[in-house]
Amino acid sequence: MRTVTVVGASLSGLYAARELRAQGFDGRLVIVGDEPHRPYDRPPLSKDFLTGRVGEDHLALADDEETAGLGAEWLLGTRARGLDVRGRTLLLDDGRTVSTDGVVIATGASARSLPGDGLAGVHTLRSLDDARALRDELADGPRQVVVIGGGFIGAETASSCAALGHTVTVVEAASLPLVPHLGAQMAAVCAALHRRGGVDLVTGTGVAGLRGAAYVTGVALSDGSTLPAEIVVVGIGATPNTRWLAGSTLTLHDGVVCDEGCVTALPQVVAVGDVARVGGTRAEHWTSATEQPRVAVANLLAGRTVERARSLPYFWSDQYGACIQFAGRRRDGDTVRIAEGELTDGAPGDGGFLALYERDGRMTAVLSVDRPRPFMRARRALTRGESRVQPTAL
Ligand SMILES: Cc1cc2nc3c(=O)[nH]c(=O)nc-3n(C[C@H](O)[C@H](O)[C@H](O)COP(=O)(O)OP(=O)(O)OC[C@H]3O[C@@H](n4cnc5c(N)ncnc54)[C@H](O)[C@@H]3O)c2cc1C
Repeated sequence: MRTVTVVGASLSGLYAARELRAQGFDGRLVIVGDEPHRPYDRPPLSKDFLTGRVGEDHLALADDEETAGLGAEWLLGTRARGLDVRGRTLLLDDGRTVSTDGVVIATGASARSLPGDGLAGVHTLRSLDDARALRDELADGPRQVVVIGGGFIGAETASSCAALGHTVTVVEAASLPLVPHLGAQMAAVCAALHRRGGVDLVTGTGVAGLRGAAYVTGVALSDGSTLPAEIVVVGIGATPNTRWLAGSTLTLHDGVVCDEGCVTALPQVVAVGDVARVGGTRAEHWTSATEQPRVAVANLLAGRTVERARSLPYFWSDQYGACIQFAGRRRDGDTVRIAEGELTDGAPGDGGFLALYERDGRMTAVLSVDRPRPFMRARRALTRGESRVQPTAL
C-alpha cells in the first residue's frame, strides 16, 4: 500500500494513524476531518469542560510533536462526501479527490436531534463547538435547564448543570434510564444518583415538542404537561455517520458492517470506533475506539482478516461526584449480586459498591460505583475468562 486515508480526525482516527506508523506503514498517510480542530477528547465535554474545571488545552489528544511525527497530510475542515465502488477514490466536499490504496473509516456518530431544536437555547452535546455554546449559555447565571434523555451523556450534563447551580430536570421516555446498559435493578440504583445531585427525574413520559418563538420556553410532555425551560439539552443518542458512504459498495446497517476484525466487504477498507458495527455490535465507548484500530490496521496491512477484536466491552461515566464503571456482556435474566459495599435506600452508599452479574453460576459482567480497585480486578478476571472472582481477591 502506498497511500492510506483515514476518514475522521478524532479519537479512533488518531489511534488508527498511530497504529499505521507503529505497524510499519511508511507510505503516504492522509487524514480527513470535517471539524476544524485537531483530535480532541470528548468525555470531558459533558463533565469538567462544561463545569469550567478544565479548559480547551486539556482536551488535545496529541501534542504538536507527536502530530508532526506521524508525517501525515491533515485535511481538516474538509468533509468526505463519497467513496467510489472500488474503495479506491475518496471524494471531498471541496471537489478534490484522494486516490488511495487503503481506507480507515473513523467518522464516529452525530447527536440525534428533535424537531424544533432550531430554537435558541436548545443544544446537543457531541462536539467541542457544541460544548462551547452550551458552556457559554450556562455562564449567564442560574437558569431552568431541561435535559431530554437520561442516558450517560444526559446524566453527566444534568450533573454538571446542577453543579453550576442551575435548576435541572431530566426527562426520560422509558420507565428508567440506562436499562439497556445496566439492567433494571442496577439502572434503578444509578437513577437514584439524580436525587443525590438535587436533580428531578421525570420518567415514562415522552416529549411532545419544544415550546417557544425565537427562544425555547418549555418542553411539552406527552402527558399534556409542560416543563418550563430556558435551556434544553437534547441527549437522545447518536446516529453513526455513514450517510457519506451511500453509493459505495459497503454494507451500512446502523453503522459500517464489518467482520470481527473491523474489515468491511472490501478488504482494503476497515472501520473503527463509534461508526463501526464490528461482528454484529456497535459500541459508543472510548475504550472500543482506542482498541479496535490496532486490529483493524493489522488486517488492513495484511489484506485480509488475520486478527479479531475480542476485547471485553468497558465504559465509565462520572456523574454527581460518583464514578460508574461497567465491563462485560450482560444479558436480560442475569442475576445481580452486591459483592462489596452496600446500598442505602436503594441508592449507592457513601463508600460505593461492586455488583457482579451472573448467569448459570458464571460471572458475565461487573458494575462498580466508586470502587475502582476491586472493579479492575473483576474486569481482569472477566477478561481472562474466569467465572468467579474470589471474595478475597476483591
Ligand atoms: C460528551 C461525550 C462524553 C463522553 N463520555 C464518555 C465516557 O465518559 N466514557 C466512555 O467510555 N465514552 C464516552 N464518550 C464516547 C467517546 O467519546 C466516543 O466513543 C469516541 O469519541 C468515539 O470516537 P470516534 O473517533 O470513533 O468518533 P468521534 O469522536 O465521533 O469522531 C469522528 C470524527 O469524524 C468526523 N466526521 C464525521 N463525518 C465525516 C466525514 N464525512 N468526513 C470527515 N470527517 C467526518 C466527525 O466530525 C468527528 O470529528 C463520550 C462522548 C461524548 C460526545
